[in-house]
Amino acid sequence: MRATVFTDYDLLETEGTPGSFMYAGRGHGQDTMIMRCPGCGSISALPLTDQGDRFPKWSKSGADELPTLSPSVFHTKDKGGCGWHGFLQEGIWKSI
Ligand SMILES: [Zn+2]
Repeated sequence: MRATVFTDYDLLETEGTPGSFMYAGRGHGQDTMIMRCPGCGSISALPLTDQGDRFPKWSKSGADELPTLSPSVFHTKDKGGCGWHGFLQEGIWKSI
């Protein structure tokens, strides 16, 4: 599934399809990736910088429009998610 990048949160919320994402942070930074779950479309925030011990952290590589994230993304059911689990690799979501 193609991951389409947005630059505006309102557009991500109203027009983003599952797998769409945007970057957020101070001064157009990339502290966080806000993404719509490829499985259910709900919005989640993935920290890309250290935001304290209580939060997990992903590392992003590659071009901003075709990012790769590590580790995998897991919308866990025990936290109310849909159970989708997969990777974002070069701008493509791949479920596992
Ligand atoms: Zn989901």
